[in-house]
Amino acid sequence: MGKMEQIARQWLAERGVTIEDIADLVYYLQSKYHPNLQKEECIHNVNRVIAKREVQNALFTGIQLDLLAEKGMLHEPLQSFIAKDEGLYGVDEILALSIVNVYGSIGFTNYGYIDKQKPGILKYLNDKSTGKCHTFLDDIVGAIAAAASSRLAHRAANIE
Ligand SMILES: [Mg+2]
Repeated sequence: MGKMEQIARQWLAERGVTIEDIADLVYYLQSKYHPNLQKEECIHNVNRVIAKREVQNALFTGIQLDLLAEKGMLHEPLQSFIAKDEGLYGVDEILALSIVNVYGSIGFTNYGYIDKQKPGILKYLNDKSTGKCHTFLDDIVGAIAAAASSRLAHRAANIE
């Protein structure tokens, strides 16, 4: 594992997100299509997505902005946009989209679905009462799960 991947994983963990949490989202998205789906397979696909440099770069950028907003250290108007998760801001979704299509367009459908349902860790990341700011991270975590689902689906299709 490269140094950048190590740091990206450490940052995720420090923000309260585990690989298992993201794998649970993959299971949520894919278990209805693959009745024998194992949790280990979900974890494997999440790990492969996080090994990609563009995914690590999105994590570094998004988590950094969340952290600075949490501490009130950004300049206005960005500070308010990110701290309040302003709906018209939208750059958090755009950054996450750079991850979604890495493994094909199924990822885009999965991303839209999971963003509406907000299961598991996404519910925690969207809880505004924690005092934490996860304006970027919720979209990035959803995007990693969507990309991992897409990867899993393509591999399963090739095997069948
Ligand atoms: Mg967001």
